[in-house]
Amino acid sequence: MSHVVVIEDEETVREVLRFHLERAGLQVTALESTAGGLDALNGADALVLDWMLPGESGLGFLRRVRADPDLRRLPVLMLTARAAEAERVEGLETGADDYLTKPFSAAELVARVRALLRRSQPDTPQTLANGPLSIDLGSAEARMAAQRLNLTRREFDLLAFLTQHVGRVYSRTELLDRVWGADFLGGERTVDQHVTQLRSHLGETVGRPAFLETVRGRGYRMRPWAEAK
Ligand code: CA
Repeated sequence: MSHVVVIEDEETVREVLRFHLERAGLQVTALESTAGGLDALNGADALVLDWMLPGESGLGFLRRVRADPDLRRLPVLMLTARAAEAERVEGLETGADDYLTKPFSAAELVARVRALLRRSQPDTPQTLANGPLSIDLGSAEARMAAQRLNLTRREFDLLAFLTQHVGRVYSRTELLDRVWGADFLGGERTVDQHVTQLRSHLGETVGRPAFLETVRGRGYRMRPWAEAK
């Protein structure tokens, strides 16, 4: 789940922002000033920052954000009541990625934040590999050696998730949560069924799977290829 920090001093605006961003499936931390703002940004995926704040202005805070090596590339959307072009330019030159002029619609705000989150994705690797198994996240294709595997969407998601976390054990509940999503109503047997299907796609020998290991009493894990051979 993406985490968005909102800094806005007007309570009604702040709560409206929180409501709509949360409804869009984002985790929100809302602050009324920039005090503690840098700490709140630790691990955040985007910042929605009001320009006019009591104390330090949004622009001043943005300068500090951009001076922090860990936050240099954090997507920032500035909110401004100022429509003056010179000020918008100043915000963008200071390092805002986008801006919205008040008043704005909630739908537009959510769309802009989503666009920022999408644009910041290319840093994550687009292909995963574990020995002869390779996964292209962009085209949603998995291959064993050169052979393309004919997977359902969910089988692909499960295989990609486990390959992303090679060597780590996940319980069935965790896999349901991470791959199927918290609102999925099916039970843990769904995970077992998908693992069985994946093993068949991967050509795994019954009782001696190379990749998808059953860890008794705990769940499943993708074995590192060095260990699987
Ligand atoms: Ca304000």
